[in-house]
Amino acid sequence: MAVVGAGLTGLSAAWHLRRAGRDVAVFDVAESPGGVIQSERHAGGWLVESGPNSLQETPAVAALLRELGLESVRQEASSAAKNRYVLRDGRLCPLPLSPPDFFRSGVFSVRTKLRVVRELFHRRLPRLNDLPLADFFREHFGQELLDYALDPFVSGIYAGDAAKLSARHSFPSLWKAEHEHGSLIRAQIASAKARRSRGEPPGPPPIVSFAEGLATLPRALAGALPAGSLRLGHSVRHITPSRAGWILDVSPAERFSHVLLALPAPALARLAVGAPGAATSLASLDHLEHPSVASLFLGFRRTDVAHPLDGFGALMPSVEKRSILGVLFNSTLFPGRAPENHVALTVMVGGARHGDLARHPLEYQMHVVQRELGALLGVKADPVFVRRTVWPRAIPQYQLNHDSHLEVISAAETRHPGLHVGGPVRDGIGLPACLAAGERLARAALA
Ligand SMILES: Cc1cc2nc3c(=O)[nH]c(=O)nc-3n(C[C@H](O)[C@H](O)[C@H](O)COP(=O)(O)OP(=O)(O)OC[C@H]3O[C@@H](n4cnc5c(N)ncnc54)[C@H](O)[C@@H]3O)c2cc1C
Repeated sequence: MAVVGAGLTGLSAAWHLRRAGRDVAVFDVAESPGGVIQSERHAGGWLVESGPNSLQETPAVAALLRELGLESVRQEASSAAKNRYVLRDGRLCPLPLSPPDFFRSGVFSVRTKLRVVRELFHRRLPRLNDLPLADFFREHFGQELLDYALDPFVSGIYAGDAAKLSARHSFPSLWKAEHEHGSLIRAQIASAKARRSRGEPPGPPPIVSFAEGLATLPRALAGALPAGSLRLGHSVRHITPSRAGWILDVSPAERFSHVLLALPAPALARLAVGAPGAATSLASLDHLEHPSVASLFLGFRRTDVAHPLDGFGALMPSVEKRSILGVLFNSTLFPGRAPENHVALTVMVGGARHGDLARHPLEYQMHVVQRELGALLGVKADPVFVRRTVWPRAIPQYQLNHDSHLEVISAAETRHPGLHVGGPVRDGIGLPACLAAGERLARAALA
């Protein structure tokens, strides 16, 4: 079987196919596995993550890390990183961490607190049509929580705009929760109860990484493949079914019973599936919006940053009209990210709000970022270390037309038995979702 794409989705698919005893060849145009997961150790002690910075360790992820023998290099987010700051009226405020905290804290108004109590009585609706995530959330919790909780959260995860994202596709768990319980809070209580009865720890799964960064995980998955299975430096543009199996436009030519495509939407859009002249085109997937994001990893002397950096990071609600999306406190989150007496921050710029800014020259971005960090964190000197990565098409936005993209993918799979498509284009964007997508792809191919 062939897997195209050696990011986390493709490597997870290959891992599950190997466990089922199948031969697998994994093709990737890049020279190293991992896709957007890119961790690099630099002289002096900086550990730069250019793509994702952390992974939610769901029970499935924990089981995989154990099987791969990664426990000794696994790092859990420091307890010093438990605060999550949002900007409110120009000041960074820690978001409440528990329900009692929420009712005690002065971050939200009494009106919003009453609104949250009222949400408990939200009735189940026969909701027939999808709607913007912002409208869905406002209906449950009102404008203030939309502005200062959901909006920054969505920009932190999707670099997206809650007014444009689909409630049903971008947060399917909330959609399902409403369908089953009416109230999202009652759904949360029921799910905590169910977790307890399964003997799972309370609260959300831990946030983890590894001593040498997240790339440890794709490297371990790639390392578990038999020699010769990982074919790097191969761009796949055309795949052709024949009676004897699928042929890919790579050399040497081989035939495969199944092809698993673990590619982002823009790469799928450029792929031709089928005999030349009668190929199925996935070109419309190019219309799946992906805003640009620039990730700036900045190292400072500790004494040049006034803020205690006692948290995960800080997010900027749109209503606060700042030029950055947010900033991660990397060296608080995990040890070994910065040399002694220094701190590491990652600033995200661009996204659905200011896509253009992500593509500006570094000097201009640094001018904007330094101004923002001065105001927000009391940064009073230039960074001593800078690494920037621009992601021209960073994260797929599941908008109200998302069904049309899903239909194009399903139609291609129906037309071409043995073809399977998975990953963020249809299965969710977080790393645990990519691992699950790989498993789903493997199961589909083995069925
Ligand atoms: C800046 C950024 C920050 C993020 N932060 C987080 C985070 O903190 N936590 C989290 O859970 N998620 C995060 N995400 C999301 C998550 O990282 C991605 O959804 C996930 O890594 C995608 O993995 P993938 O394997 O599906 O795709 P990719 O990683 O995009 O891999 C696809 C692979 O296909 C290859 N390819 C493309 N075209 C071809 C071709 N024609 N032939 C052969 N190979 C090809 C590419 O080289 C690539 O290796 C972030 C994403 C970005 C961009």
